[in-house]
Amino acid sequence: TLKSKLMDEDALRRALTRIAHEIVEKNKGTENVVLIGIRRRGVPLAERLRRQIEEFEGTSLPLGILDITLYRDDLSTIDVQPVVHETDVPFSVQGKNVVLVDDVLFTGRTARAALDATMDLGRPKRIQLAVLVDRGHRELPIRADYVGKNVPTSRREIISVCVKEVDGEDEVLLLEM
Ligand code: 5GP
Ligand code: MG
Repeated sequence: TLKSKLMDEDALRRALTRIAHEIVEKNKGTENVVLIGIRRRGVPLAERLRRQIEEFEGTSLPLGILDITLYRDDLSTIDVQPVVHETDVPFSVQGKNVVLVDDVLFTGRTARAALDATMDLGRPKRIQLAVLVDRGHRELPIRADYVGKNVPTSRREIISVCVKEVDGEDEVLLLEM
């Protein structure tokens, strides 16, 4: 059931615009910056960040894709196993500032798997994490460098992230199971 609308199209656009500026500021430009979107909705979000950064910096950024799924053997989170399915990173991460992009940060297990997968590709200078929503409940010492919106949630709540590229509209909703 729907509890509330957290972001509409304008709010989502503004959050991504802010994050795009923060990425450029924190990395002192775009020279060594590469983006890696985590499927599924992290990919269109990364594409939008790239487009915005390219617009206001006048440079082009490499964009890669990681496909990571969490398998839950039962309802306990202890049995969650992240599996990296596909790695489409057609550039070197050696010496780069890699920005991982995902829609929601929850336990941190997906981000951790993404860190491992990225470091398997080479030796980045640093790795940062950008998420549209941080819903809390971390089970690992992982935090995001760039956050669209912090949303304290209960475990029974879930965040519905809709993006035009996948869902036909842009909005973020808070749902209760
Ligand atoms: P974590 O690995 O941090 O537990 O969960 C993050 C991953 O699971 C992200 O890739 C995200 O897409 C998905 N996820 C976890 N919780 C939610 C949620 O409440 N809503 C949505 N849309 N995705 C979630
Ligand atoms: Mg995901």
